[in-house]
Formats: sequence, C-alpha cells, structure tokens
Amino acid sequence: MNNFNYERPRSLREAVSLRSRNAGAFYLAGGTDLIVQMRDDLLKPSLLIDLKALKQLEGIDMKKDVLHIAALTKVSAVEMDRTLLRTLPFLCDAAGFLGSPLTRNKATIGGNICNASPAAEFGTPLIALNARAVISDGEKTRVMAVEDFMTGVKKNALKRGELLSGFIIPDPKGHKGRFFKKSRIKLVDLATVNITVIKKGTEYRIAIGSCFIKPLRIRTAEEMLRGIKEPDARLLGKAARICAEEIKPIDDLRGTADFRRDIVFHYVKKLLGELTAKGGQR
Ligand SMILES: Cc1cc2nc3c(=O)[nH]c(=O)nc-3n(C[C@H](O)[C@H](O)[C@H](O)COP(=O)(O)OP(=O)(O)OC[C@H]3O[C@@H](n4cnc5c(N)ncnc54)[C@H](O)[C@@H]3O)c2cc1C
Repeated sequence: MNNFNYERPRSLREAVSLRSRNAGAFYLAGGTDLIVQMRDDLLKPSLLIDLKALKQLEGIDMKKDVLHIAALTKVSAVEMDRTLLRTLPFLCDAAGFLGSPLTRNKATIGGNICNASPAAEFGTPLIALNARAVISDGEKTRVMAVEDFMTGVKKNALKRGELLSGFIIPDPKGHKGRFFKKSRIKLVDLATVNITVIKKGTEYRIAIGSCFIKPLRIRTAEEMLRGIKEPDARLLGKAARICAEEIKPIDDLRGTADFRRDIVFHYVKKLLGELTAKGGQR
C-alpha cells in the first residue's frame, strides 16, 4: 500500500472542494472496496477524503411517498430498516446477501453503487425500482437514473467536483418483488448472477446483474408481460428466454457464460411465477 494523506471534512462543500483540488484523491465511505484495492496496489490514492463525519449523508426517510436513502447508509441499516422491511423487503434481502455481517456493518449503499461492479448487490434492485442517484457539487444537486449512473465496470457518471449524496425511490408503495443471488460459495462471494424482478399492478420489471458490464434491465421481456395480470407458464418461459438471450455474459472464475444463461432462464421464470401465483406474493 502506498503512502497517502487523510482528511475528514466537516461539510459537503469542503469534501467536494478537497476532491476538486486533488486529482489523486478518493472518497472513503466504508472502505470495504477501496481499502482492498489499495492493499492489492490496484489503486494508489494521494489523499483519502473520509466522508464519515458528514452525518447528513446517512439515513433512510420516507417523505410524501418518496423514499430517500442517503449514500453513507450502512448496508446493515438497509437490511434491517423497518420501513423498508414493510414496503420493499426484496431491497432488504439484497442487503442481506452482501458479504458477511462484518462487511455489512462497514459497507455503504452509496459505496456499492459508486464502485460500480457489474455484480454489485444493490444494482439490480435499485434499477428495477427506477431509483435515481442524487449527485451533489457541494451546493447544487442533480439527479439521474441509477441505471445511467453506473456506466461500466468500476465506472460511474460522477464528475471530479461531485459526490453521490443518496438515492430517491419514487412511489415505493405497491411493489411486489424478489431478489435472487447465485454465488459459488454461500455467503461472502460476489454474485455469479443476481436478479431482481418486480410486479407493480400489471407492470413488470426485470433487472439482471453480473451478466454485462453493468446491471441490465430487460425491457423487451418487461413489455411482453405488461398489462397481463397472471401470465401463464408459457408466457413466463418466453420472457425468461428473452432475458437469457439478451444478457451478454462472459466466462470467468465465477461461471461460464452458458451457465449464467441457464441460471437466468430458470430463475427469472421461477421468480416471476412466485410473484404472479396466488399465495406466492410478498
Ligand atoms: C469480504 C467482502 C465481501 C464482499 N461481498 C460483497 C457482496 O457479496 N456483494 C457486493 O455487492 N459487494 C461485496 N463487497 C464489496 C463491498 O463491500 C461493497 O461494494 C460495499 O457496498 C462498498 O461500500 P463502501 O462504503 O465500503 O465503499 P468504499 O470502499 O468506501 O468506496 C468504494 C468506491 O466508491 C467511492 N465512493 C464511496 N462513497 C462515495 C460517495 N458517496 N460519493 C462518491 N464516491 C464514493 C470510493 O471513492 C471508492 O472508489 C465485499 C467486500 C468485502 C471486503
């Protein structure tokens, strides 16, 4: 690990200003991605800007039917939040699948999305929920879809003088959803595939992770199911087939592309079936 300077700013403006003035600076949230990359000499920051003193960047809040999750909210807090357990339990499930309890007590939801791994656990539920990323330059904010915020492997849409301050989930009530993760080792391994499916009324959303350079919505399959209250097994199979065909997986140490396509086909069909079958709803 290289030598680096360390700052713990007291305001958003100070944090962003430090980042603007230092090309080699990185924000530090939970450090569970960043410190590992530094340990392995994949990153050599000249300065770490520790965001943990910025308490306004923590918390989960429902205001006028809009859910706000601040970027530095711990993964364990998302996993156990009462409002989320009631309204969006599949988001809590995704949190519960991220690493070990030790990791979840350090790691943040914002760090997970900024790090932008194609396998990021919060990728599929947030894009399936049409979540928006709130980006601050220390004074003003701008908002963009999380789907666009994650731009590629370990890449995000932040400019140098900006940080991610949180997420907005519009109209969170009335979603039924399922989160699924397939990994080589149960617990503490990144996903070979992760999937979120959502049904809201007769609208369906399907998001798949670890099968492209970033988590992916499969809109052709979503459109095919739109308007149908209880799609039959043939239609669910057709939607799952489209998903398996539209992903662009690679062979890597976690699984082959063919294996990923099989997992996607089988589990998209199964999860959609659970959402649409009577009694299988959550
Ligand atoms: C043992 C272990 C197991 C893991 N298992 C999983 C797993 O199962 N699933 C999974 O998805 N991940 C896993 N991870 C990866 C990691 O824990 C998560 O991605 C975590 O959510 C990262 O959050 P963090 O707060 O620790 O980010 P950090 O490491 O602090 O930051 C990650 C990156 O995002 C930037 N950043 C952080 N916050 C902000 C912000 N608010 N604005 C702008 N930039 C920011 C940092 O500069 C850095 O580049 C694991 C890690 C470990 C060590």
